[in-house]
Amino acid sequence: MKKKLNSEPLFGAREREDSVAMLVKMEILDVGEVIKEFESMTKDAENVQRETLKKILEENGNAEYLQNLGLDGRTDPESFKACVPLVTHKDLEPYIQRIADGPPAPILTGKPITNISLSSGTTQGKPKFVPFNDELMETTLQIFRTSYAFRNREFPIKNEKALQFIYSSKPSKTKGGLFAGTATTNVFRNSEFKNATKAMQSQCCSPDEVIFAPDFHQSLYCHLLCGLIFREEIQFVSSTFAHSIIHAFRTFEQVWEELCADIREGVLTSRITSPSVQFAMAKLLRPNPELADLIHRKCSGLSNWYGLIPELFPNVKYIYGIMTGSMEPYLKKLRHYAGDVPLVSADYGSSEGWIGANVNPKVPPESTTYAVLPNIGYFEFIPLRENAEEQVQDKVDASFISMEPKPVGLTEVKIGEEYEVIVTSVAGLYRYRLEDVVKVMGFHNSTPELKFICRRNLMLTVNIDKNTEKDLQLAVEEAAKLIAKEKLEVIDFSSHVDLWSDPGHYVIFWEISGEVSEQVLKECCNCLDRSFVDAGYVSSRRVNAIGPLELRVLRRGTFQKILDHYLGLGAAVNQFKTPRCVGPTNHKVLQILCDNVAKSYSSTAF
Ligand code: AMP
Repeated sequence: MKKKLNSEPLFGAREREDSVAMLVKMEILDVGEVIKEFESMTKDAENVQRETLKKILEENGNAEYLQNLGLDGRTDPESFKACVPLVTHKDLEPYIQRIADGPPAPILTGKPITNISLSSGTTQGKPKFVPFNDELMETTLQIFRTSYAFRNREFPIKNEKALQFIYSSKPSKTKGGLFAGTATTNVFRNSEFKNATKAMQSQCCSPDEVIFAPDFHQSLYCHLLCGLIFREEIQFVSSTFAHSIIHAFRTFEQVWEELCADIREGVLTSRITSPSVQFAMAKLLRPNPELADLIHRKCSGLSNWYGLIPELFPNVKYIYGIMTGSMEPYLKKLRHYAGDVPLVSADYGSSEGWIGANVNPKVPPESTTYAVLPNIGYFEFIPLRENAEEQVQDKVDASFISMEPKPVGLTEVKIGEEYEVIVTSVAGLYRYRLEDVVKVMGFHNSTPELKFICRRNLMLTVNIDKNTEKDLQLAVEEAAKLIAKEKLEVIDFSSHVDLWSDPGHYVIFWEISGEVSEQVLKECCNCLDRSFVDAGYVSSRRVNAIGPLELRVLRRGTFQKILDHYLGLGAAVNQFKTPRCVGPTNHKVLQILCDNVAKSYSSTAF
């Protein structure tokens, strides 16, 4: 067995032993079998959903939460919906807090919860606690296996390595002694995960000590270094969310000469101070001047880093990570680094539980849909248009009784309609409103294929206007064309609704890659204002019920400060999503944005 290096890594000796034992037992995944299972299950989605609900309720029937709702052992969907209310995270917080505080008890699940996940919380401003257990781990592996099987059918990879920008969050324990980390950390530290990725022939090229390094910057540097050392073997480049891939290669642009120096001398830069990382990297690094020269030549020969990824990793087959929703704005930059290497969006899920797999990996991320796995949870959907129409009708009739939304089942959704997702998970969440909006694009057998639309509560609104994250993205893309003419780009962006001014107005924050003239920035500001085409916005602007849009240009590095702020709260880079619409309660992020404004412009478009 490996000697334990020091006290830093999260992996305990027992977990390491487990992990080794699992590797010995490991078999290569039979992708044909996985696809066959998926096809058969999705043909019978309605029954599988019934069975899944039954199993969840049987396993957790003795949990205090369910006991109090009077199900009395019934497990059918009708009784479930009649007895169990729709809830939000806020409703469950007291239960989750009791789980975190201990002692172990069947509060939300029959078997006491052993781990807590920290969701990224980038919408609300602070990470949320959600339960994590072995059953959730199993569903995670199932979805990984499923999408891998479909991916491997289209892009076969050999049993080689992957450059995976994966990081752990700062480990902590709850008052009751439960491990608390991000869901991705909970997954990466699980020995089953290592076994599964090996079976999927996609081992991370970096050692565990790099993934679990105490400092994210050191971890990132060493991931890049490991990638270069194993450059010929790298089959794909990935991260949980695409943002981390962009972040990694932007960092590469800054540190590539230092990386080359390390490879040339076979000595790790002094910026890596963690003893466990130093020790692990020393085993991989050997003086290799030829490789250093080759990388140096390749990097020097690139024009503005176009096609960097295939230059560095000649055998890379695809780039993989969640690329939809709030990740879409990064696609342009990702394509720039990727050259002609395909981008494949990863699956759809959350710390609360997984939802759907990308089973059409050749479809570009802009059109990616996710086929719901009917056995990884019980799913319901609140129709958004129907409810809106009904509620208006209710008000008109003055016979309004209840605003309680009426969800439909997995196989009852309609193509072309938008819904909010409700999850009943294997980890103790029952009829939980995820607050994500999805659109049904079609069906895979009898299970729906969902397109991620937006977070439900991410909405710019002052008056009768309603602009989603997607509307904001489109407006930013339109205005960014004006600076693209000067070979500049919007590195990242966010927004805020200023209701202190009278009338209230939209504030858009931009971090730009270089200096732009005053004139062009004024045009960008006007263009942003004109690009919100929602009728409520346009009409309100015309009568000055919404004030002129403000564009605030940020100093370089502001979004890094926001990322660092979230890391300080215990988040991991893996799950980070730039907060696109910062509400007044997200004081710290709003303060970082406002403290770093270099210039500001007010629209004259209306
Ligand atoms: P977290 O709070 O860190 O667990 O992140 C979960 C949230 O990330 C989900 O509720 C979605 O809003 C978003 N998300 C996860 N997967 C995807 C995806 N494939 N496409 C778009 N957004 C996603």
